Amino acid sequence: MTFSRRSMLTLATGLATILAMNTAPAIAQDKGTVGIAMPTKSSSRWISDGNSMVEQFTAAGYGTDLQYAEDDIPNQLAQIENMITKGVKVLVIAAIDGTTLSNALENAAASGIKVIAYDRLIRDSENVDYYATFDNFKVGVLQANSLVQCLNERFGDAKPKNVELFGGSPDDNNAFFFYNGAMSVLQPLIDAGEIAVPSGQMGMDVVGTLRWDGAVAQSRMDNLLSANYGDKTLHGALSPYDGLSIGILSSVKGVGYGSGDLKMPCVTGQDAEIPSVKSMMAGEQYSTVFKDTRALAGVTVKMVDAIMSGGEPEINDTTTYDNGVKVVPSYLLEPMALGVGDIEKVLVASGYYTADQLK
Ligand code: BGC
Repeated sequence: MTFSRRSMLTLATGLATILAMNTAPAIAQDKGTVGIAMPTKSSSRWISDGNSMVEQFTAAGYGTDLQYAEDDIPNQLAQIENMITKGVKVLVIAAIDGTTLSNALENAAASGIKVIAYDRLIRDSENVDYYATFDNFKVGVLQANSLVQCLNERFGDAKPKNVELFGGSPDDNNAFFFYNGAMSVLQPLIDAGEIAVPSGQMGMDVVGTLRWDGAVAQSRMDNLLSANYGDKTLHGALSPYDGLSIGILSSVKGVGYGSGDLKMPCVTGQDAEIPSVKSMMAGEQYSTVFKDTRALAGVTVKMVDAIMSGGEPEINDTTTYDNGVKVVPSYLLEPMALGVGDIEKVLVASGYYTADQLK
């Protein structure tokens, strides 16, 4: 069989078009585009969330417009406004500040765009249709339980056990759920004199860490140590997020904890980020809470698909997440406490990380 020059050219052009289609960025496909607004790339969990959503939305036939705002509120607002102007079908938003999106979401509603709050609740707006997240109160309970477990293992004889408390960003609704969940475990132990907080700093208004910034946590820990631990030993720190844990650990190591007679204090965390998993493997951070971002992306894609086909998304909580204007129908996934012994079977065997990434 022979081909004419013209038919070869047509074939080549056709192939080039197919190739271009396959390698083109994820733009509008049959089912329309989903706008995905993520807070920052400075924490790897949000990169995993974004990647998982793009992969799963693409497989379900949607285009995606994924944007990161580097923790800058006006930047995130502009990204969302831009997505609305470009005509996305649905917005999936992990807010930087959960209280600043009301105007943008009014515009979304006026254009018939549904809004899903992703991981973090969007507050003070009626234009939030659904919320996909983890059981955030339980995250705090798991953190406090593992803190207590470590305190008993490492400092069984100490009474009281000296602990400092760290909270997340006060503009993130989750931070209050984490703190309240943790205090549901710790407060009775504080009342019973088992645990002491030598600085006396308690309550989210005092222990919050704006923008979840590890450097802020590190310098707060520096100050707490120099002001309150002249004649005392620190036994533990409640940390709600791995990025803060790394800062807290740098601070305590800086004054000699973890070497000589000074045992490493018990430090918790969240997100199973690689530096923290490595720190756990090195015997520094005690625990983290793993929230599988692949599963959260999966729930979100199913929600969007249900909305887009005129159905009702599956929800499993209609009482917990009052955003100040309405209770947002939610789907809560289960968080999981991770100790060093769980890393291989939970993170590596499931393909969340490769063994090489943890070397
Ligand atoms: C998320 C946590 C994360 C924190 C800092 C929270 O809203 O739920 O998983 O550690 O933000 O990014």
